[in-house]
Amino acid sequence: MALIQCPSCNKRISDKAKTCSHCDFVLAGRSSEDLQREQARAVQRRKDKLLSQSMLALLIAIAAFAYTFLEQPHPDAWQAQVSYGLIVVGLVWFVINRVRIVFLKRGR
Ligand SMILES: [Zn+2]
Repeated sequence: MALIQCPSCNKRISDKAKTCSHCDFVLAGRSSEDLQREQARAVQRRKDKLLSQSMLALLIAIAAFAYTFLEQPHPDAWQAQVSYGLIVVGLVWFVINRVRIVFLKRGR
């Protein structure tokens, strides 16, 4: 018995399994073409998810930056601390998502 990667969720499953035990994807009776198509679809799904997450992260950073720029809260005020925190978190989250997209495209 060998382990293969589920084309849908990418987790390790037995090559004898008829359905994936993680996501219930049906493997039995599928051609390799079918499986490849499903794999491409799954990669696209993950990419879309990462893309929308990175857009959300960027939006948070921009909103926090715009708030700091327009309202100019006192640097010691909690509003300023929260905005700085959100800018950093948003940018870091954005970069992480972009890096994950790059790795996804390489077909890791
Ligand atoms: Zn699966």
